[in-house]
Amino acid sequence: MDIDVLEKVRDIIDKSNNIVFFGGAGVSTASGIPDFRSATGLYNKKTNTDYSPEYMLSHEFFENHPGEFMEYAKNNLISLEAKPNDAHYALKTLEDMGKLKGVITQNIDGLHQMAGSKSVIEIHGNLRDYYCTKCFENYDLDFILNNNKSEICTECGGIIRPDIVLYGETLDANNMDQAIKWIREADVFIVGGTSLVVYPAAGLLDYYRGDKLILMNMEPTPLDYKADYTIYGDIATNLDRLVSSL
Ligand code: ZN
Repeated sequence: MDIDVLEKVRDIIDKSNNIVFFGGAGVSTASGIPDFRSATGLYNKKTNTDYSPEYMLSHEFFENHPGEFMEYAKNNLISLEAKPNDAHYALKTLEDMGKLKGVITQNIDGLHQMAGSKSVIEIHGNLRDYYCTKCFENYDLDFILNNNKSEICTECGGIIRPDIVLYGETLDANNMDQAIKWIREADVFIVGGTSLVVYPAAGLLDYYRGDKLILMNMEPTPLDYKADYTIYGDIATNLDRLVSSL
């Protein structure tokens, strides 16, 4: 760890009250939620079917096999044991201090809210909220976990789905507009726990107009050249170190 960089970034955070954080799977790894794309992640785990994990999380699969889709989501996406880690709590602290405008996350695990963060944009949705695709009745996680036919709406018999973005679906435009607005207006932009090889993650960086872009990742990414500061290593450890020294 380069102590000088950490010191500089600490000073930048200390002086700012308009920080925006954008995070990916790496933020949740310390909570035991593996990155979908890592060697131990979901995409490298065999399914009980002939379908690939990517396909089972696609719009097409959901449309054609809603029951199997819900079973797969229940068994593979929902993690009841996962708890927020030091990265989530550090960001919550920054929000409480009036420094952080908000968190934009690619994660669907809801751990930022569980840590107490209030200003969160989940661009890929979340696994707390469910709705009927026919009558739009809302359902919660308890209903999904406690019913065998949890993909069937009790009001109209329509198909229930989680409020997450599947492959082949577009991101929510309102969420993206809000995220872009935050980034455009941000004084400091911290991007962490994302390999930055997949859009829209990579594209969001381009909306930032300031000169304090901080990338925090385990390892270098293809977009490191755009950063004003790079901090490598475990993001939970490093965010905690930065925030607890304020
Ligand atoms: Zn319904």
